[in-house]
Amino acid sequence: MSTSPFDLSGRTALVTGASVGLGAGMAIGLARAGANVACHGIVSVDDTMAAIGALGRQTGAVMADLSDPAAAERVVDEAERVLGPIDLLVNNAGIIRRAPAAQHSDEDWDLVLQINLSSVFPLSRALGRRWIDRGTRGKIVNIASLLAFQGGILVPGYAAAKGGVAQLTKALANEWAPHGINVNAIAPGYMATDNTAALRADATRSRQILERIPANRWGNPEDLAGAAVFLCAPASDYVNGHVLVVDGGWMAR
Ligand code: NAD
Repeated sequence: MSTSPFDLSGRTALVTGASVGLGAGMAIGLARAGANVACHGIVSVDDTMAAIGALGRQTGAVMADLSDPAAAERVVDEAERVLGPIDLLVNNAGIIRRAPAAQHSDEDWDLVLQINLSSVFPLSRALGRRWIDRGTRGKIVNIASLLAFQGGILVPGYAAAKGGVAQLTKALANEWAPHGINVNAIAPGYMATDNTAALRADATRSRQILERIPANRWGNPEDLAGAAVFLCAPASDYVNGHVLVVDGGWMAR
């Protein structure tokens, strides 16, 4: 029996949006810490599953489009069918749409709100209800953003959704802490993934952003793995409703 408070042996996680980017990095990080991991995706999660398998952990794929409001219950059912009871949920799937507020379309607003915020609630509710009924512990890690605190530029729907994710994190944490369920969030800074490809392609914005990051580099998926392991592990049993910034110092500036 391990004495490490960061050991996830015997635990089973569901990570949404685990195909690429931060989701893939966290799924592999959880597996490295000992967890079996169900990988949700809308596109292939084969590469992530191969990395998890190579670590000797069990894994499985759950394919679903989270723009469909009915998908969340199916995702949880399917993950538990493939890997057994889920103890850990990382709500990572997300999209971004950049446009000036005056031109921001209803379609983009609705899609960003649905995938980034509205889907997080039924996914969390489906597992929270199971954990309460089973009398078992569980942990939820929501992926927010610095735009849960700041307004950003050209991304009003995204900022509204991420602010909502931070508030939902606290609301669920308050209600479920007495059941031994921890709900926390990570607010990543500026990370080099598909999500920020357009931003990094904009030479001016890219330079401005880099100049403000004390660590003097964009983050990468591996940078989130430690925070995700902490918030999924016994080490964080007394951490409830916290939004953990992982940003190379951006918010301290
Ligand atoms: P990414 O674009 O590389 O990954 C997004 C993931 O979400 C992918 O796996 C994608 O398949 C999935 N996804 C997209 N649309 C989906 C849909 N309709 N249904 C189901 N899954 C869908 O971006 P990323 O940077 O890895 O983003 C991961 C999370 O981190 C997002 O919630 C994002 O908002 C957040 N985030 C990213 C940054 C950053 O700088 N990259 C900063 C703060 C927060």
